[in-house]
Amino acid sequence: MIYADNAAQCPPSREAIDAAVYAMNNSGNPSGLHSRSSVAARLLFEARRKVAAALGAQQSEIIFTASGTEADNLAIFNGAANGSRHKIIVFAAEHKAVLNSAKSFTRIFGGAVEYIPCLPSGTADLDALAKMADGDTALVSLMHANNETGVIQPVAEAARIAHSVGALFHTDAVQTAGHIPVSVRELGADMLSISAHKFGGIAGAGALWCRANLKLLPLISGGGQERGLRSGTEALSAVSAMGTALEQACSAMAQNAARVSAMRDNLQERLSDIAGVRFPGGDSVRLPGTLCAVFPGHNGEQTALMLDRAGICVSAGAACTTGDAGASHVLTAMGISPAEAECAVRFSLGAENTADEIEIIAEKVHEIIR
Ligand code: PLP
Repeated sequence: MIYADNAAQCPPSREAIDAAVYAMNNSGNPSGLHSRSSVAARLLFEARRKVAAALGAQQSEIIFTASGTEADNLAIFNGAANGSRHKIIVFAAEHKAVLNSAKSFTRIFGGAVEYIPCLPSGTADLDALAKMADGDTALVSLMHANNETGVIQPVAEAARIAHSVGALFHTDAVQTAGHIPVSVRELGADMLSISAHKFGGIAGAGALWCRANLKLLPLISGGGQERGLRSGTEALSAVSAMGTALEQACSAMAQNAARVSAMRDNLQERLSDIAGVRFPGGDSVRLPGTLCAVFPGHNGEQTALMLDRAGICVSAGAACTTGDAGASHVLTAMGISPAEAECAVRFSLGAENTADEIEIIAEKVHEIIR
C-alpha cells in the first residue's frame, strides 16, 4: 500500500506511539495526588515544554485541546468577542473549522463574517484585507498554509494589517507545524492552532497557543484543567505523543522538507503531460508534500477510489470535510469552475514515501486517466 494522504493524517511515528503507550501504562489522572498522578503531571509538563519549544512560545501560553478544530473554535469565539467590535474577517479558503466556527459565533452572538478573497494563485488577497479591516473588526483569521493546495499564506503581513486597526489575529497552523518553521513571534499572531495527527502524533490532541496577557474565556468549563481554559481530564497519551512527535518532526524538518518537496516536484513533473491537467497553487510557495491536481473530465472522487483499488491512498480535496460532496470551496475561491474543481485530487506526501512510490503513483494515475 502506498500512503499519499499525509495532509489528512500522518502515520504516527514509532516514538509517538511509544510515548502514548508509556503514558497509558504508567500514569493516572494528572490532577490527582498519588504517585501515578505525579507521573502524569510530569508527562503533561514535558509535552507542554516540547510543544512550546517547537513554536517558540512560553509553556504558559499553550492550551491543550482535543483537536485542531477545537483549537480553532476556541480562538475564533474568543477573538470575535474582542470588545464591542462586530466584524470577523476570515480567509475564504480556510478550513471549515474556522469558517463554520465564525458562522456559529455570529449566529449565537450577532455580528458579521466577511471573507478575504483568494487570488487565483491560492494566496489571500491582502490588498482586499487592508480595505476590509476597520475599527469594527474584532478578529482576522488567516491560515498558515492551505490544506488542499498547500499554498503558504502571508500571515505576518496579515497580522500587521489586523493589528493596525486594533483587531486580534489568529492563524490556523494545523498543516504547517512540524513541516515548515512555525514561530509564533515571527508570525506576529495572537493565537495559533495545531493538531497532533498532522505531524506524526495521534488523533485526539491539539493545542491553541495564545499570547501571554490575552485573556481568554473557556468554551468547555468544568474542573479547571488547562488553567480553567479547557476543562476535562487531559487525553494524556495523545498529548504526550503530540509533544514527542512535534519535537521529532522539528528536528528532522529541514532534511524531510528537502526530500519530500523533491518527490512532490517529481510527481508534478510526471503528471504534467496528462491532457488538460492543472495544478492549483502550483506556482506559489507551497508546503513540501502537498500537490493538488485537477484532471478535467475525471471526477476526483472516482480517481481517488480507483487509485485506492490500485493500493494508493490519496484524497479528493480535503478528507476531513465529512460527507461534504461537491466542488471544493478552496478551489472555487481560486476562480476554478465547480465542474473542474470536482476533478481535483490531492496527493500529500510525507517522510515515509520513497522515490519508487512516486513512479508507481504517476504510472497508475496515467493508466486511470487513459
Ligand atoms: N485546520 C486545517 C487547516 C486542517 O487541515 C484541519 C484538518 O484537516 C483542521 C483544521 C482540523 O483539525 P482536526 O482534524 O485536528 O480537528
